[in-house]
Amino acid sequence: MMSLRETLRHCVLNGFAAVDVMRNRESLLASSKIVQVVNFHHMYPYEETAFGEFLDWFASRYKVISYSEAVERVRSGNIDAAYGAITFDDGLKSVLSAGRILQDRGYSATFFVCSGVLGETCPTKRRAFYEGALMDYESDEFLSWEDVELLQSQGHEIGNHTVSHPKISQLADRQAQQEIDLARESLSRRLGDINHFAWPFGSFELLGQSVIEHLWSAGYTSIASGVRGAHAPHTEVTQDLPVVCMRRDNVEARWPLGHIKHFLINNAQQPVGHQQWWPQDWRIESHYSNSN
Ligand SMILES: [Zn+2]
Repeated sequence: MMSLRETLRHCVLNGFAAVDVMRNRESLLASSKIVQVVNFHHMYPYEETAFGEFLDWFASRYKVISYSEAVERVRSGNIDAAYGAITFDDGLKSVLSAGRILQDRGYSATFFVCSGVLGETCPTKRRAFYEGALMDYESDEFLSWEDVELLQSQGHEIGNHTVSHPKISQLADRQAQQEIDLARESLSRRLGDINHFAWPFGSFELLGQSVIEHLWSAGYTSIASGVRGAHAPHTEVTQDLPVVCMRRDNVEARWPLGHIKHFLINNAQQPVGHQQWWPQDWRIESHYSNSN
């Protein structure tokens, strides 16, 4: 049952999607040079068919690549076509089916998981996670460690999404660093190197300066936001950058495909340049090479 707000949003997006079709705005993607990452959280049984349809459309418009390749293309600026990658946040059990669906099509995704709830079966702790993190989502179990290993064996990558999914900005610096570091330690002990981090809730204002500096020196290849956008090519010298900050569009497979297309077409129309990878007030200029 949709709330009034959701119903309104749905109707407005229906309108936009109809205009997109009328103007054939989707054809814009054919000539776009972008990297687009699409992020999901769950894959309930009734969403699986729609997810397959989304993937078929996605592959018809984007070259589907791994998230690691997407990060490398954004870093290097080597973006000569429309590239697309898929990620999942939170480590909910239902995403196992998505892992299979992706594998069947030969695609690899990155799953960002919270180490503290992997295999958690206690209903009280599960509920606490939902109330704190995913209020709008249906009840779902968490992946077990074995599930995560299965995803890896299917060719997918695992990323760090903290221990317990806090709003990092609400923590003391030391606590925030522990949420990030302890998760990575425990994930890498069992799964090997963990090179990607996605912070909970994904908006830029949730990362304070000390956390940014901590992440920059921690040796991640990327930190993944939940801020909408596609990345544009660039010619900057960025090899020395310690980390790349990735844009990602949060979507749900149950959304009408036309709605998802609408957001992605908008991104392609105004892709994000390297100066917009992170907000101006993140004080990390000293890490930037002096190429310009
Ligand atoms: Zn999350």
